[in-house]
Amino acid sequence: QFQATGKETVFHGRHINPQIYAGIDGNNWGLKDYEARGGYAALRKILGRDGGEGMSQDQVIAEVKASALRGRGGAGFPTGLKWSFMPRAFPGQKYLVCNSDEGEPGTAKDREILRFNPHTVIEGMAIAAYAMGITVGYNYIHGEIFEAYERFEAALDEARAAGYLGDHIMGSNFSFQLHAFHGFGAYICGEETALLESLEGKKGQPRFKPPFPASFGLYGKPTTINNTETFAAVPWIIRNGGEAFLAAGKPNNGGTKLFTISGDVERPGNYEIPMGTPFATLLELAGGVRGGKKLKAVIPGGSSSPVIPADTMMACTMDYDSIAKAGSMLGSGAVIVMDETRCMVKSLQRLSYFYMHESCGQCTPCREGTGWLWRMVDRIENGHGRPEDIEMLDNVAENIQGRTICALGDAAAMPVRAFIKHYRDEFVHHIEHKTCVVPAYI
Ligand code: SF4
Repeated sequence: QFQATGKETVFHGRHINPQIYAGIDGNNWGLKDYEARGGYAALRKILGRDGGEGMSQDQVIAEVKASALRGRGGAGFPTGLKWSFMPRAFPGQKYLVCNSDEGEPGTAKDREILRFNPHTVIEGMAIAAYAMGITVGYNYIHGEIFEAYERFEAALDEARAAGYLGDHIMGSNFSFQLHAFHGFGAYICGEETALLESLEGKKGQPRFKPPFPASFGLYGKPTTINNTETFAAVPWIIRNGGEAFLAAGKPNNGGTKLFTISGDVERPGNYEIPMGTPFATLLELAGGVRGGKKLKAVIPGGSSSPVIPADTMMACTMDYDSIAKAGSMLGSGAVIVMDETRCMVKSLQRLSYFYMHESCGQCTPCREGTGWLWRMVDRIENGHGRPEDIEMLDNVAENIQGRTICALGDAAAMPVRAFIKHYRDEFVHHIEHKTCVVPAYI
């Protein structure tokens, strides 16, 4: 097997490793088990409650910067840099928010962290709050995920009772109140400013940016938002050092990452692997393509990331830079595998329906354009396509991309353009023959 995170985390012949998934081996998600695994040692360390001198805010941020930890929610923005944007001297209330509104099709990792190792998120958030001088935080949890919400609430109770949250944590001058918030299940609330609107009790619609949340966030106050998996990685970084985390991955892509692999594989699930691992290794861990069929295409980072043909994907490593070079995005790490029997028109029809359904309707190119895209792909799939539809699809997608308030417009447009670019023949065949080029669908 392989070493997943340098010295201490070893792949156990399971598809998960203890850094994030420690609690999965039975009912050991709770505080006592977490402490036995070294939990809250990082918080003790920064507060000087382990016999050491403690760490300053700048030292914590420097360690996170050195780790090259990049946001695990999809954008891949450097976490330490984001933390340094928070105006620490701001005289009023500042907020820390965890984005657990996991809704990207294909992604199912954050809910598992919350179910099996919730304290690692709490500890990561407490460390982040300390580093940025924040005293109040919220974890916004996707509305359709009940068990994760209940588990996180239970973990919060344990952490408060043990003195890891609340006033004067472990007798220090640092106070941090953390609350869970159960969302409403809308995909768009995963967009950080829509999430803030929803958290304020309003309709979850994205805000114009700038101003960015670092200066105008929750209730108009400076706010830092990170993804669940990002916070979960922080305690390990503080305990072991940023350099060790960086070394577990590859330059500019520090550490390990959870990938949710689904679609046509033998063993779909979550796999934590070092950044920079070849895609072929991940596919092998997931048991290979189901039924011994040939790999046709892969959506590497959730449905918003452009599809990549098999040959290109097999040459990729699983990190932000390699996937970007192949013309797509690592995104949330949701790897959707498609074998040779998949019809690309049918696949795009389903994706287009999703974005039309989830558009918040605020801006015209997205509200109207996503409907146009779906209707055109739908009629091609159903044998009513017109020869001019392919160009029109590309044209509508082009007119959405870059012309909307938030990234959902781009997320709807980019897959369309990629499917047409790589699989135009299938669209043409559907239009000319009113049937599918793939035998399984004829
Ligand atoms: Fe709403 Fe779509 Fe505009 Fe985003 S791009 S604000 S989802 S209409």
